[in-house]
Amino acid sequence: MSDLTTTSNDVTFDSFNLDTRIRAGITDAGYDVPTPIQRQAIPYILEGRDVLGLAQTGTGKTAAFMLPILQRLTRGPLRRPRVLIVAPTRELAEQIHETARALGGRTKVRSAAVYGGVGKGPQIDAFRRGAEILVACPGRLLDHLGEGNVDLGSIEVLVLDEADRMLDMGFLPDIRRILKHVPAQRQTMLFSATM
Ligand code: AMP
Repeated sequence: MSDLTTTSNDVTFDSFNLDTRIRAGITDAGYDVPTPIQRQAIPYILEGRDVLGLAQTGTGKTAAFMLPILQRLTRGPLRRPRVLIVAPTRELAEQIHETARALGGRTKVRSAAVYGGVGKGPQIDAFRRGAEILVACPGRLLDHLGEGNVDLGSIEVLVLDEADRMLDMGFLPDIRRILKHVPAQRQTMLFSATM
């Protein structure tokens, strides 16, 4: 991957040329200037490149991947899953889902959070309504895949968030099984606090 270590203090959100509805979402969220990981990663992700991000929670990494994802979803088909974000815990999945709602609130893009410990019905309803972004924990997503509740054949972007934690929690076999349902031709992003 190219050098993501260069930093600049004069990069603004405007310099990313995001859709005006997404710019409004950034203002709604109260973000003023991009954080270092946002400055570094957003241009690459907007180009459709694969990205390996070393970033802790609290650095603004969620918006770093969510803003380019929302930009991609302003074009092309709606009402089918096009982005899959896999996260280790329901808390993290819920946070990512809320970030999608906050930043994408003025677009037509919909996000669904998919995790265990709660009923499947509302998640199935969200699939039927046609969420473009799925934020999922591995186990529950596999349950839905096994039951034929959701089809990942139109996924264009895969994000593995807190990948190191997912490995620690023993999710690697589950992730391998999920990958079999996702097209090989896609943009892949992996975020991890440690390498
Ligand atoms: P994260 O690292 O994605 O968990 O984000 C940490 C916190 O920073 C979240 O509460 C975000 O809403 C907030 N945040 C993300 N990007 C920015 C930004 N550019 N300016 C101010 N706050 C931000």
